[in-house]
Amino acid sequence: MEEEKRCCPNCNRPFTGRSDKKFCSDSCRTMFNNRIKRACRTQHGELSRIDRILKKNHAIIERLYSRGERETTFTELFGMGFNFEYQTSMRENPDTASSYIIGCYDYTYVISRDGRVRLGKRSVIPL
Ligand SMILES: [Zn+2]
Repeated sequence: MEEEKRCCPNCNRPFTGRSDKKFCSDSCRTMFNNRIKRACRTQHGELSRIDRILKKNHAIIERLYSRGERETTFTELFGMGFNFEYQTSMRENPDTASSYIIGCYDYTYVISRDGRVRLGKRSVIPL
């Protein structure tokens, strides 16, 4: 193999070595790989966190909807631990030009300016 000069992706220092050698040293290779593993774990943790929030939101809406409630308030949902920051879909409300129908999996909700929240459920789309 040919000797080549290049930069170590971990410490950015130039080094020479066989062309298949990527890092200047074993410790740089280990550090670099550990950093990537850590970054992947962090990203995975963030996805799990958002999944948990969405599932909790879904459980809250389902609890209300299953006992026949079709209208609630922003404050009540917030008090139940609903997190308005995450949703699974959003589209313009054809009934009013100024609101959006927000989706949480198979449920939908529309928040009015006065804080009322109207709950809905998507009809099941046949396969
Ligand atoms: Zn290095």
